Order: sequence, then structure tokens, then C-alpha cells
Amino acid sequence: MKIESNNFVDLASIAVRNTDQQTAVRRGTRNAYNNRQAAFTQFGYEHGQKLRMQAAAAKRRALKSLPDLLEEAEARMKENGITVLWAEDAAEARRHVQEIAARHQVKRIVKSKSMLSEEIALNGALEGAGLDVVETDLGEYIVQIGGEHPSHIVAPIIHKSKESIRDLMVEKLGMPFTDNSGEMVAFARQRLRPIYLDADMGISGGNFIIAETGTVTLVTNEGNGRLCTSAPRVHVALVGIEKMVETVEDYALLTQVLPRAGTGQHMAVYTSMINGPRRTDEPDGPEAVYVVLVDNGRSKVYATKYAEVLSCVRCGSCQNACPVYRSTGGGAYGWVYGGPIGAVLTPLYVGLENAEPLPYASSLCGACKQVCPVDIDLPRMLLDLRHDMTVRGHGSKLYGFGLWAWSITQRTAWSYRLTAWAARVGQKIMGRWHPGPIGAWAKYRDLPTFAPKTFRQLWAERGK
Ligand code: SF4
Repeated sequence: MKIESNNFVDLASIAVRNTDQQTAVRRGTRNAYNNRQAAFTQFGYEHGQKLRMQAAAAKRRALKSLPDLLEEAEARMKENGITVLWAEDAAEARRHVQEIAARHQVKRIVKSKSMLSEEIALNGALEGAGLDVVETDLGEYIVQIGGEHPSHIVAPIIHKSKESIRDLMVEKLGMPFTDNSGEMVAFARQRLRPIYLDADMGISGGNFIIAETGTVTLVTNEGNGRLCTSAPRVHVALVGIEKMVETVEDYALLTQVLPRAGTGQHMAVYTSMINGPRRTDEPDGPEAVYVVLVDNGRSKVYATKYAEVLSCVRCGSCQNACPVYRSTGGGAYGWVYGGPIGAVLTPLYVGLENAEPLPYASSLCGACKQVCPVDIDLPRMLLDLRHDMTVRGHGSKLYGFGLWAWSITQRTAWSYRLTAWAARVGQKIMGRWHPGPIGAWAKYRDLPTFAPKTFRQLWAERGK
């Protein structure tokens, strides 16, 4: 997927004028947010908070010993008969998958939803190599036939109305006209069923890898994930190196918070644990299972103050809670990950210079941290990214100058008093006319009137 994150302001301006999309995103995120709140407080607020903190602790523990867990997971997976491959970057990951396809004489591939495969632009590479690739998650399938990209981590077509999906299916798939979403789903299912049986290879992501058992786990709500991993001859799981958890107990905990946070379910409909290819006494399952462990910038992040973001379990909760995401939808963020998690991950993965507006695409209201099932401090990271951008000379020079000038005024009591006095006098003289960047800011907001007396003046008067 092409990186267009530097165009955030333009893309967001287009998005907020698209009323259909606005309605769809608002409705989708509001429902998911409300469901999440209900699921986490069903047994009381305290219970929900404890669950979050335990999940956060499990992920932080796994992060702390990530290098060891990766080695342990690799050894266990190999014992289970899984072939483990490592990919330093997107190109290497794509090459591994292409080589596996060539080795097994693959022609058709079915895919289960995987944001990582979007991140490494896998579909284009496979299609370029002459392979037939079919997305089987319903949302991803719609995205594929529409030539678009997912706009949400969990709900890829949250930006689309039922009517626009219906029209697309009528146009691209020849579906008979209907207004019934059940009939639309049934039509897609009938199209996809024979494709699973015809496919030579299935590609999935992986929600977690349990290091102590070498198990790849998948949490889905559609049976497509299971069909992709078990019907074709070959299964390839693309998994980011940060997806390790230490024990089965940790997984049992995380598999409770992920669906609660993402969709408000206590358990996902399908929870698969993959322990390797078909054994000799088993009637079905793939002949070969590969796990490609993808770095693609993660180890670089691991060595910084942003390491905590690697705890993300990709639930999409922060997107549903974010007032900016709710207004713009995911497409405006210009790359794979939208919302608060995207505003942090994208600059870290693709470079600060390629995503300059994203750390500013936040009101810093803190809702993303409050809903995060593993308590990632996204607001702190957004501020740190703004700081890093300014220090390294990225972003608006005017903004940098403004911050520098402000910091000068705060250094001594007399400069602070002088600036406060100048601001009050300036506001009196200019009234509601605001020049330059202040005018741009005040165009959509009310600039509060400065208090006539400072706190110090009031304090001094009180002491008299
Ligand atoms: S940052 Fe937290 S809330 Fe956002 S997707 Fe990741 S785990 Fe979910």
C-alpha cells in the first residue's frame, strides 16, 4: 500500500465532506465502542479494569523477554513440524511467500484477514507473480473487489454503507439485487466455498504465538480463517515478531480481552490453535505449515521509548474511541493503520518524515489509553513523537518556532509576566480579529478571553 500519510489534512478534508462515509463510520465506531463498554463492565468496573491490567502485564512481560521468547517459540514450532522463516523487511517477507508458492507449485491462494499482509503489500506481489489471490474475510473480500484498502483493523469496511456494498457486489460479482444483508452474505459464501476447495495455499495472520508450546493462534468471527488454514495443502502464517506470549495461561487471558475490546464479545466465534501440519493419523489439515516471522521495523521500535506500542493486540478499540478517527475514517491516515494506533505506528514504521501530520491528528483527550485492553499510553507517545519531530526539524517550522518562543517566555517569572500582560493587552486591542495561525485556529473555535487579573494579582489582593 502506497504511503500517503503526509496528505492527512487533504484526505481528512475530503473524508469529512463524504456524508455517506461519515454516517457509516460514526455508526460503526459508536456501536463497537458501546459494545466494548458493556463487555468490560458486565461484571463491574473493577473486574474490567483488573482484566485490562492483567492483560497489560502479560504483554509487557512477553515484550521484556521477547528475544528469548522468539528463540523458544522457534524451537517449539520446529518440534511441531512447522517451518519457521525470518523476514527482516517487507521485501524479504514477500520473497519467502513467493518461494513457498513456487516450491509447492501453487496456483490459487486463499487469504484470511491479515493487516501484516497489507503492511508488506503482499497481494500485489503475488498477483504480479501470476498467482490467483482471493481474500475470504467478507470485509476484505469487498475491499479486494472494490480495489480499495481496509480502513479499520477489525472492521475493514466500516466506512461503507450497506447500500454501497450491495451496489459493488451487483456490479462486480453479478449478485442479484437485494436489500437483505443476509442474502448478500449468503451470496458471498456461495462464491467463496468452492474457492477454498480449489486453493493450493492458505495465508493467514496470527494473533498470538504461544512460546511454550509453539502454537499459532487465530481469533476470528468468520469460519473463513479456519477454512484457509486447514483446507489447502499449504498454510503460511505471517506473524509480526511482537506477537509472542509466554504461556498458554497468558493466551487464555488475552483471548478474553481481545474480543471484548474489539467487538464487545466475551469470546470470538472461532478461536483456532495451530500446532503444525497434519499428522499421519489425522484425516485432514495441511501437508505443510510455514510461519514467517516478520520484523519490518519492529526491532527498531523495540530499542526505543516507544517499545510499549508493540504490546498492541490490534483490537481497534482506540480507533472506535478516537474523535478524530470517528470524523475522518481510516482512509485519511494514508497507510495500513489508522486512528491513534496508526498515528503512533506509522511514523515509527515508515519514518517521521513520511507521516508528519499524524502525531498531530489527535485531540489528546486520552480516550485511546482508557479503552486500550493492554493499557498502551498512546497519548504520551503522540506527545513524544511531536517532540521528536520538532527536535529533528520535521513538521511545521512555524510550529517549532512557536514552541521555542513559548518555552522562552516560561523560563523566568518576569518573562512569563510580561508575555501574559502582552497577551491581555493584545487581545483588548485586536478584539475578535486574530492574525495568522491564531486566526486559523480560532476560525473553528472560540478563543477564550483572558481573565482581567492574573492569579498573582488576585492572590496579592487577597493577602492585603
Ligand atoms: S493500541 Fe490498544 S486499543 Fe489500539 S488497537 Fe492496539 S491494543 Fe487495541
